Amino acid sequence: MEEGNIGRDRIVNEHLVDEDYFCTICCCLLWKPCACSKCHHDFCQNCLHTWLENPNNNGKRCPLCRQPFEEEPCSSQIYSTLDHLNIYCRNSKFGCKQILHYNSLELHETVDCEYPSERCSECDQLILISKRDEHYEIPELCTPRPVKCTSCQTYIEKVLFKDHFLKCFENRIAAMFKKTFETNNVQTITHDEQVARPIWLQTFHNGLNTLNFLKEQQQFSPIPTNMIGLDAVRQAREQQCGFFYYIFVMLRFILANSSKAPVFIFALSVAGLVRLAYLIFSVHRILIRQTDAHIDRGCCFIMLFSYILINGILLLFRFVPDSLIIFLFALVIFLVGCADRTVPMELFEFHPGFQMTKINIVFYFCVLLIMKTVLLFCRFYYSCIPTYVTAGGVAWINFFLAYHTKHPRQNNTPSPIVQTTTTT
Ligand SMILES: [Zn+2]
Ligand SMILES: [Zn+2]
Ligand SMILES: [Zn+2]
Ligand SMILES: [Zn+2]
Ligand SMILES: [Zn+2]
Repeated sequence: MEEGNIGRDRIVNEHLVDEDYFCTICCCLLWKPCACSKCHHDFCQNCLHTWLENPNNNGKRCPLCRQPFEEEPCSSQIYSTLDHLNIYCRNSKFGCKQILHYNSLELHETVDCEYPSERCSECDQLILISKRDEHYEIPELCTPRPVKCTSCQTYIEKVLFKDHFLKCFENRIAAMFKKTFETNNVQTITHDEQVARPIWLQTFHNGLNTLNFLKEQQQFSPIPTNMIGLDAVRQAREQQCGFFYYIFVMLRFILANSSKAPVFIFALSVAGLVRLAYLIFSVHRILIRQTDAHIDRGCCFIMLFSYILINGILLLFRFVPDSLIIFLFALVIFLVGCADRTVPMELFEFHPGFQMTKINIVFYFCVLLIMKTVLLFCRFYYSCIPTYVTAGGVAWINFFLAYHTKHPRQNNTPSPIVQTTTTT
């Protein structure tokens, strides 16, 4: 537990510490501190990480000196002074009379204290664990703190926040698109072809920005959600848990929101397809670049690769029925989508498509139908054209990609082939 939050009033021998022992971010006593290697100011580690991860704070810069942040350990003097501090237990208002050393405080507060307490996630107050139910039930005791909207920088009451954010979010996106089209028009008028980016690229860029808005809001103050078990998914992402456990968490999340399951399956499959295509593309590019280094081995490799690929597909068609291929493919892209931890789950609730479960189902089956058509076409193609022709074609495309497209790497370092010819 990362607690800290120690004000001056809780330190018994407070004359020992001056302002330098208080974190500039949270204004409390330094808790598990670390320092900036440039200006040597100390911060709570937790405060600092929250600060660095906030996209509003202009990249990973120190809050004080504004230089790119590099962490260094605090001076030993800081640690030894902190060690000598005597601090009241945070549960003193509930009746705990203990005074503890800085170093034993955390253990006492979280394990040994007779008055175990926790921080309410709604109102941020410290509450006795034994009175938790009472706290949640009586509205006067727990008034949720307002949530900050990162789009308009105002604080909104929690119950109203979702509607507000939705509107703000739409306005911001509309403004962004409007700006895109306006600049695009200006550019076409001035015929400035070099500056003008194609409209599809800008639209794609805007789509990415939409995700960034959500991420920004999520980091600053989470959007209240109606989806069950989203916290578990967020937690699993934060803890960077193992691959299979994460998939298990995702499946549990989808089952818990079973009325929206078709939407999740469709969206995650699309995400998985994109991820898989990108993965194959990257691996292919790396292999192609490898062939560049040794032309003889490269040629053998490309021919072998093309031959195995085309005949492998032929064998697949011969022994595996279409329905199984489609099922396995759908399963694989769904699981890849599930394993992708960058998919913004919050987006689902805000996306208009989230409300249209039936349309999502229809879409999904359309995609399956398209896959079936493609497979039928492939079978027809294989029955008409001999495999060696196809393998030759694929090999030719790979040769073209390997030796005819310019790689940025070639400009920087001369390729080994050139070196050997110059030495001989
Ligand atoms: Zn702090
Ligand atoms: Zn600094
Ligand atoms: Zn205590
Ligand atoms: Zn509360
Ligand atoms: Zn707003």
